[in-house]
Amino acid sequence: MFGLYLHIPFCRSRCSYCGFNSYAGLEERYTSYFEALLTEIEYQLSTEDWPVVSSVFFGGGNPAILGGKRLSLLLGALRKSFRLSPTAEVTTELNPEDATPELLKSLKSAGFNRLSLGWQTLNGDGLVSLKRRHNRQQAIDSLTAARGAGFDNVNIDMIFGLPNQTITEWRDDLATLASLNPDHLSLYSLSLEPGTELLRQVEAGKTELPPVDDVAHMYEIAIEVLRKSGFDHYEISNFAKDGHACSHNLNCWHGGEYLGIGAGAHSHLKGKRSWRVNDPIEYIVRSRENDTIAGNEVLDKGRKLGERIILGLRLCDGIDIGELEAEYGVNISDIYGDAIRDLKQKGLLVAGSRLALTEKGLLLANEAMVAFV
Ligand code: SF4
Repeated sequence: MFGLYLHIPFCRSRCSYCGFNSYAGLEERYTSYFEALLTEIEYQLSTEDWPVVSSVFFGGGNPAILGGKRLSLLLGALRKSFRLSPTAEVTTELNPEDATPELLKSLKSAGFNRLSLGWQTLNGDGLVSLKRRHNRQQAIDSLTAARGAGFDNVNIDMIFGLPNQTITEWRDDLATLASLNPDHLSLYSLSLEPGTELLRQVEAGKTELPPVDDVAHMYEIAIEVLRKSGFDHYEISNFAKDGHACSHNLNCWHGGEYLGIGAGAHSHLKGKRSWRVNDPIEYIVRSRENDTIAGNEVLDKGRKLGERIILGLRLCDGIDIGELEAEYGVNISDIYGDAIRDLKQKGLLVAGSRLALTEKGLLLANEAMVAFV
């Protein structure tokens, strides 16, 4: 599998919790950034004999800010420079306030076949505290509009552990989500990222987050409610209806190759990781010389193996130990025997023919994964 990622680093305003590589107030750069992406995509044609592309993901920022026509042209340019599989999953992120019938129609006819809608919460106070630009009804309407435009593969991004959020409010969100029947859900607990307005508010005592135990309980509730509603919990934060697991992310969790294009985009190719300059203006300038890579690293065998295990443990069915040993020519117990025994004793890991986190391990995933760094 081989994935393409395209980053659009612009937003109309900044959400209070946002730690992504995104910028507000750069409207005058949209056209030159779009042209820089086209330049970079065209340049890729001459650099490699690329494998067939199994997934494409437009993320941000807010891709819709460029408008349906530019997004369609970018997808068309990718088709010229790469060989997209006829069954490729082609996703774009989309915020509810942008999900107009016109935009959805143009995305569908351009060949996008999956949407990832950024709802984050259905609670009015929660949306205000996150400084999102949509309300509850716009979120719900965006799914209806997506279905109306023919999208039968729709993810919804949600966050829990919001300021002052109660367990009851989270249960309400989950019940509504289950009744609306999306194809996929990504649920993340709120993290306080450096430099964000939310972190400043919390540090100043103006905003309070729910207790850690409540947040852990919200995660347990989500697993229980969504399983009962027919979702397969296939990755720590991800739930899918039959056949709707996200191919693009599965490729990353399986240690596959991907090429990232755009400001701050990361790539993983032939055992090397690289990343492009974060700043969109610097990216625009450097794209003219095909010089947008800010850094790279070649992973040695030990780090590669550790990363494969960490990524693989994100998946609820874990990793096939035999396959991993054959691929790396090692005996996993020789290297990680002590760590595995310790995590098993703590009830965080099961290790038979596969290595996988337990339910408790999913809750304490960071603690478990540190053992493989
Ligand atoms: S829409 Fe997403 S990328 Fe943009 S500011 Fe909000 S959280 Fe950040």
